Amino acid sequence: MTETYLFDPPAQPALALVGEIPKFPVRRIFCVGRNYAAHAAEMGNEVDREATFYFTKSAHTVCPSGSEIAYPAGTRDCHYEMEFVVALGGDLFQAEGAEAMEAVLGYACGIDLTRRDLQGQAKEKRRPWDLGKDFEDAAILGPITRRDAFGEIADQRLKLFMDDREVQSATLDEMVWSVPEILSHLSRFYHLTAGDLIMTGTPAGVGPVHPGARLEGRIDGLEPVEVTIANA
Ligand code: MN
Repeated sequence: MTETYLFDPPAQPALALVGEIPKFPVRRIFCVGRNYAAHAAEMGNEVDREATFYFTKSAHTVCPSGSEIAYPAGTRDCHYEMEFVVALGGDLFQAEGAEAMEAVLGYACGIDLTRRDLQGQAKEKRRPWDLGKDFEDAAILGPITRRDAFGEIADQRLKLFMDDREVQSATLDEMVWSVPEILSHLSRFYHLTAGDLIMTGTPAGVGPVHPGARLEGRIDGLEPVEVTIANA
């Protein structure tokens, strides 16, 4: 018997795969905090080398690259954070190293849009970050390139341009926690599965977006991510 619902269930958030027709259905979005030392420093923090930490965004925060979005509600200080995104294509639980990497389907460029003022208030009051991180269109994501086509994660350069001005630049080997380390740690706490995404943190240079801004993020070997903030 087919299930019936009181109202239409939400559309499945999904990402394109480079050169392929089927889309990648997004399940969960895990985000790594403080994974580049220079960004931790610019936020007045130190990297905790003992353990990484995470926050999450709902799958329904996904905004496909190429969109125009409204300036987010309830903030006066919305920031861009350009990130390397890992897309899982298989199950992963309590696995390490090469075994953990086997679950990786591919990679994408992503922007972790952040209501910095609300995040700051939450930090001050030792409250969760949801208002600062988990809101409509807060996960702007480009198409996925398969792992084999991308190759090893090494010194590929990540850059973000706002209105054609370079505002962030780093290489992937500057990440404090490598992708296998993140997968190994996260899979101690979750049964990760196909459809899960991991945003691996942003380097230094974060800053405010303004109505009318155009953001373009690039990582060597991946399709770019682009978004325009509508004029107020
Ligand atoms: Mn981030």
